[in-house]
Amino acid sequence: MRRVVYPGTFDPITNGHIDLIERAVRLFDQVVVAVAADTHKAPLFDTERRLALARESVAHLPSVQVTAFSGLLVTFSATQGTDVILRGLRAVSDFEFELQLASMNRRLSPGFETLFLTPAEQYAYLSSSLVREVSRLGGDVSAFVPLPVHAALRERFG
Ligand code: ADP
Repeated sequence: MRRVVYPGTFDPITNGHIDLIERAVRLFDQVVVAVAADTHKAPLFDTERRLALARESVAHLPSVQVTAFSGLLVTFSATQGTDVILRGLRAVSDFEFELQLASMNRRLSPGFETLFLTPAEQYAYLSSSLVREVSRLGGDVSAFVPLPVHAALRERFG
């Protein structure tokens, strides 16, 4: 049984995240979307809401589970029975930080592997922070987020 953990803040989950999850579904038997409860920034949506929105957004994918996590990713992944995590690479700008993270995780846990996937071109410039900002300023983000997220953003920003 091949499992992969896909960690992130998902504040909120976007169509770029969903694109990556759908790709992972084709490669792994089970995909665990791990919503980080420890974030250094004050999130727009609290952990419970980010979890709920992620769950609703992947409801069409039976092999995907959504769960919260805190603490070290390598430790959490071990409890999930895997040492493979998935991260997304959009532009070159993601690379430096992701390489650091992957190297640190491997240092903390030899045998730990980080797998990178790239999204479809139309999501290459999409980020949760941009979605939050455009939404806050009254822009239409319906093309960039799943329906439940769109509804939650409208509720938040009107
Ligand atoms: P984090 O705060 O851990 O970076 P995010 O929720 O912003 O959490 O992102 C989680 C993962 O998804 C990261 O690896 C990020 O690069 C990737 N990701 C975010 N947006 C996209 C996108 N539009 N396409 C592909 N991957 C993405």
